[in-house]
Amino acid sequence: MKTYLSNPSGYCQGVQRAIALAMTFKKQNPNKECFVLGALVHNETVTNELKRYGINSIDDNRSNEDKIKSLPNGCCLIFSAHGHDKKLEDLAKSKNINILDATCPIVELARKNITNALKFNHQVIYVGTPNHPETIGMLSIDKEVHLFNDIMNNMKEVIKDEKPFVSNQTTLSIYELDNIFHMIKNNFPKAIFQDEICRETKLRQEAIKKLPNDVDVVFIVGGKTSSNTKKLYELAKTHFSTLRIYQILDESEIDPANLKGLLSAAIISGASTPLQETMKIKVKLDEIW
Ligand code: SF4
Repeated sequence: MKTYLSNPSGYCQGVQRAIALAMTFKKQNPNKECFVLGALVHNETVTNELKRYGINSIDDNRSNEDKIKSLPNGCCLIFSAHGHDKKLEDLAKSKNINILDATCPIVELARKNITNALKFNHQVIYVGTPNHPETIGMLSIDKEVHLFNDIMNNMKEVIKDEKPFVSNQTTLSIYELDNIFHMIKNNFPKAIFQDEICRETKLRQEAIKKLPNDVDVVFIVGGKTSSNTKKLYELAKTHFSTLRIYQILDESEIDPANLKGLLSAAIISGASTPLQETMKIKVKLDEIW
């Protein structure tokens, strides 16, 4: 039995940076209470590991404002790699809370591009997953940033700018985005398109298309709420309609009974999946076969 490990595997640069920032701060300030607004990155294994270090995620159904209001004065609050509504920083400062901003620089750049377009009075169409933290952060910039999903059926009524600026979430599917950009171009031929899908996301998606022909089963490894992992799963399902594709968090979800008679497997991991989790899956598959 053969197992293929796709390249790249392990954390992307933005996730690596966010985890390092949080861990270093906690190490230097061991007595400071530390919280993350939401999940630092969308991977349950990472969230549990951070908890062991004393960094707790506040990831419940309350609004972000209510979450911050409930924090103890003078604690440390970490904003996640996905970006956030900048107004929340003022609320945190009013409680004398130390802020640690772990926003990925690529997300921050996408934000700056939107802000610049607004300065030139462009309306903005944002293509992103509704309610994802990155989308929420971008929509909070200005009321003239419009979520594509909200306006797709009445674009011409909402967007009066003949050259709207079109931006997107960094972890979308390259193929899905291409279709949406075409749809927008049909309505606004002079629209300004800024593809913000990050290189790390693109490389992982392209790796699926480059898988060898003899693969029988594909394991997509990553958090259940990870946007880029979900897109990898959807892409693999579309690209290999006859193969078995499983999205799993770790090796405990592999059932040997499902692999009987199969000869080769591919392992593809999301951008927030620890490399050791991917390697554990490879070891388990090697043991089964
Ligand atoms: S997936 Fe891309 S945008 Fe998201 S944290 Fe990683 S490098 Fe940054």
